Amino acid sequence: MVVYWNKDQETMDREALAGFQLERLQWTLQQAGKSPHYKKIFADRKIEPGEIIHLEDIRQLPFTTKEDLRAQFPYGLLSVDLKEVVRLHSSSGTTGQATVVFHNQKDIANWADLVSRCMYMTGVRQDDVFQNLTGYGLFTGGLGFHYGGERLGALTIPSGTGNTKRQILLMQQFGTTVIHLSPSYAMRLMQVMGELGVDPSVDLRLRIAFLGAEPHSEEIRQRVERYFGVEAYNSYGLSEMNGPGVAFECPEKRGMHIWEDAFLLEIVDPGTLEPVETGQEGELVLTTLKREAMPIIRYRTSDLARVLPGPCPCGRTHSRLARIMGRTDDMLIIKGVNIFPIQVEQTLMEIPEVGQNYLIILERAAGMD
Ligand code: AMP
Ligand code: ZN
Repeated sequence: MVVYWNKDQETMDREALAGFQLERLQWTLQQAGKSPHYKKIFADRKIEPGEIIHLEDIRQLPFTTKEDLRAQFPYGLLSVDLKEVVRLHSSSGTTGQATVVFHNQKDIANWADLVSRCMYMTGVRQDDVFQNLTGYGLFTGGLGFHYGGERLGALTIPSGTGNTKRQILLMQQFGTTVIHLSPSYAMRLMQVMGELGVDPSVDLRLRIAFLGAEPHSEEIRQRVERYFGVEAYNSYGLSEMNGPGVAFECPEKRGMHIWEDAFLLEIVDPGTLEPVETGQEGELVLTTLKREAMPIIRYRTSDLARVLPGPCPCGRTHSRLARIMGRTDDMLIIKGVNIFPIQVEQTLMEIPEVGQNYLIILERAAGMD
């Protein structure tokens, strides 16, 4: 029997969901219009939020890019008084100056609820012991999952990253059953467990792992599942859209449900910026539908995504995204062919003798890649 964290929202029929989204979108535009950034954009382009009467009308609005967020640093996208703001987070800033996102109390509560929904969906319950092996601080993975775990009612251990020996000790001492970590840290954990002679099937009680924050292949998931004896689920999010809790795999493990009651989804051709045909790959563009302190409209994530066809057997009606294969900015063009690092990983990880880490070196000799 499938049980849901919030059945009404997770299984809402598509028509009702579209109606709900439109209502939220109209509210979001009004709210966004209170920020200096969107106020100016709406004025310059003579956009009347009230004229958005169909979901498709969103295409009349401009995209928001990372450059916009940087140009408006720090407070230009804030739609509420500073006195209402309770938290800020920031992106990892690997592609330039970091960007910041602000939340009020309600935003934090909504975000926690989304993360609980994801965790519950995979079978986490109040009697689980959840160890969160991700960075606490400006990065969203730590606090995002922490509040999700607590809201669900699981014992949540804020173990953070690093100090791998202590992480393993905590798992043993408290009987950790659920872990959240990046795929690369999962690889490190395996290595250290191997060195210490810890056998997860004997010494630990793990049953579920959440892998997030980085692109990783199906082969990496399978390595994690085999080694730790867990079900591993892909967790996708980005700080501009809160962080974790944007899209998450259900027990079917066929794509990640993107929570469309909280985010409006578009997939566009990164060249023409026109919508792609349904099911085609393109750049993921997201609009917040519930956020109050800092709504963001049509955010170009740079992530390449594809919507999987058909309904999911789990009964949830929210669209499913295929595994994110890469970002528009980490694509390598080799002899004219587009290649993503994850494709190299996929092939490498099929070879059992290959270790956990790899380095890609692309050279050009005599004009040849
Ligand atoms: P940040 O805002 O710094 O947390 O970084 C978010 C970015 O990390 C996303 O835009 C993706 O590029 C990447 N990311 C997060 N989760 C995943 C995932 N499950 N699969 C692939 N990429 C991911
Ligand atoms: Zn499902």
